[in-house]
Amino acid sequence: MKLSLCAGCGALLQFEESACRRCGALQGFIPGTLELTAIAAAEDGTVVAAARPDDGWRRCVNAGRIGCNWLVADGAADPRCDACRLNRNLADMAVPANLAKWRDLECAKRRLLYALRRFRLPIASKKDGESRGLAFDFLEGSRGAPVMTGHANGLITVNVSEADSAERERQRLALGEPYRTLLGHMRHEAGHYYWDLLVDDGGRLDESRAVFGDERESYGDALKRYYEHGPKPGWEEEHVSAYATMHPWEDFAETWTHYLHMVDTLDTGAGFGLSVNPRVGEDPHHAAVIDFDPYDPPDLECLVRAWLPLTAAVNSLNRSMGQPDLYPFDPSPNVLGKVRFVHDLLQPAGNRTATSALPA
Ligand SMILES: [Zn+2]
Ligand SMILES: [Zn+2]
Repeated sequence: MKLSLCAGCGALLQFEESACRRCGALQGFIPGTLELTAIAAAEDGTVVAAARPDDGWRRCVNAGRIGCNWLVADGAADPRCDACRLNRNLADMAVPANLAKWRDLECAKRRLLYALRRFRLPIASKKDGESRGLAFDFLEGSRGAPVMTGHANGLITVNVSEADSAERERQRLALGEPYRTLLGHMRHEAGHYYWDLLVDDGGRLDESRAVFGDERESYGDALKRYYEHGPKPGWEEEHVSAYATMHPWEDFAETWTHYLHMVDTLDTGAGFGLSVNPRVGEDPHHAAVIDFDPYDPPDLECLVRAWLPLTAAVNSLNRSMGQPDLYPFDPSPNVLGKVRFVHDLLQPAGNRTATSALPA
């Protein structure tokens, strides 16, 4: 995530913020150019954005209810921003607890969309009649009608209970997962969607099968087997997570999620100018400098060379604060081989120099 500063006072801004925490200056995010910028709002609801003063803007219609800080072009037919307009069905938001969950879900979704834009991936909305478009349902289950978080043909469904931290932790423990986050869910389900787009539609099924296995294997049988028997012993050699062992589609989605975690965290590290140079030993594998754009790296080796020392350092920092590891994984060489498939999918050869066009 690229860093932004308040133009008024120089304070560091977080991606989700609608106002500077130090001086109160209003902020809005321009999705087209990925800029968090100072804004001035007029009485009629129009907004002047300091970064793009010649264009007319409005705040997303969800700004008041859930603090969405994305801007919409003034006069756009849909008063919702590029992120909110991907929503289809929502749980009853008159229930205050649901509103708080929705806010957190949208924050995670906007971080996902930020990454998709940085990778220059197509983000078509089902609303625009795109059969391969994307849409989100954030739903509340009931006793007779449970809601399964998942993806089907571009529709990403998330059970809003995932935004309840106690419930999410209960699920994490029940499933024996090392971590469970809303952003992880968003990235994972988007992985299924982009498998359809980039692998299936993209004519790369054979390559995908060689890496992740044959996805024609019955998903229902695989699911049943996984929940009855769990992952095979020694799964860490071949899979990034236990869940990735369930079916080739899940293997891909988990590996994809891993790659997005890695790139976006490194990008934030690069923004802060982070480097790692431990004061014990002289093993160069413990040192890292992020002197490249993680969304547009020279090669995968660059990413991995920076990633492993950085996460070792941040895991140690977390433990000093009594927190669980930021990165509770230890990817094997085989897993990194699968990560390469995702890297090649998102960094097509020749795409690199031609498309570094987004404003810095
Ligand atoms: Zn400020
Ligand atoms: Zn919005």
